[in-house]
Amino acid sequence: MPDTHRIVPGAEVDLSKISPEGKDYHSHKKAARKEFKTLRREIIELQNRLYAECRQRLLIVFQAMDAGGKDGTIRSVFRGVNPQGCRVASFKAPTRDELHHDFLWRIHAQTPASGMMQVFNRSHYEDVLVVRVDKLAPEPVWRARYEQINQFEKLLADSGTRILKFYLHISKDEQKARFQERLDDPAKHWKFSLGDLEKRKQWGEYRAAYEEAISRCSTAYAPWYVIPANQNWYRDLAVTRVIVDRLKQMNPQYPPEEPGLDLVEVE
Ligand code: AMP
Ligand code: MG
Repeated sequence: MPDTHRIVPGAEVDLSKISPEGKDYHSHKKAARKEFKTLRREIIELQNRLYAECRQRLLIVFQAMDAGGKDGTIRSVFRGVNPQGCRVASFKAPTRDELHHDFLWRIHAQTPASGMMQVFNRSHYEDVLVVRVDKLAPEPVWRARYEQINQFEKLLADSGTRILKFYLHISKDEQKARFQERLDDPAKHWKFSLGDLEKRKQWGEYRAAYEEAISRCSTAYAPWYVIPANQNWYRDLAVTRVIVDRLKQMNPQYPPEEPGLDLVEVE
């Protein structure tokens, strides 16, 4: 069910109590893959309508620990979607220019226009995650951001943007295995940086930062979903179910045709 992993507004999230294994919810990889492929076709069809309708907007946020599967999820879930109607923005450490503005400035600039589906690979949540853990800003500054984020997302929602936020939940052991895989495969070396090992040492601090961000910023208009992500096949299915469900609720329609089309003859 699409709501299985949704964090109810006001709930206190304890990630140690949430299993990163999808098997608790779906035990058959083959069946899951099949369902995933069917749902992916639905995304393609619904996104086509969203784009044609050119009225509503969808923003999809992905956050995770390093090697949590953000890139892989984006690659598999949005495969086949019309690239004209779908954009991905990846947020890295802010540039000097970006730092001369408020933290939401660069984010706001990437929010979806009418008809668009916009994917965020990392997001404004980094400003209460890495910024908090690495003390890149004083506590009162990042503390104020939970409310600022809620207000910002409310503004987007009130302006017709639907928002979904996914935390891809992996275990520390799974991260180790994925780091090792990146080290063993030269084609994956580019994905690994020594800084990732430093962040791994701060696992507990990141977990606490995620728990607070998710607890304080899961709202009715911009819910967080904690997705068990140790297994890609479950992760992809769970994310796709939520997106399809949301798109169905949005129910985008092809715009009405111009009158008289039935009389038109193409010479
Ligand atoms: P990757 O997603 O692996 O390409 O890494 C991007 C890096 O940018 C990560 O280490 C993030 O923590 C970092 N990053 C993203 N947003 C911010 C931010 N607002 N402040 C500081 N670092 C950030
Ligand atoms: Mg990385």
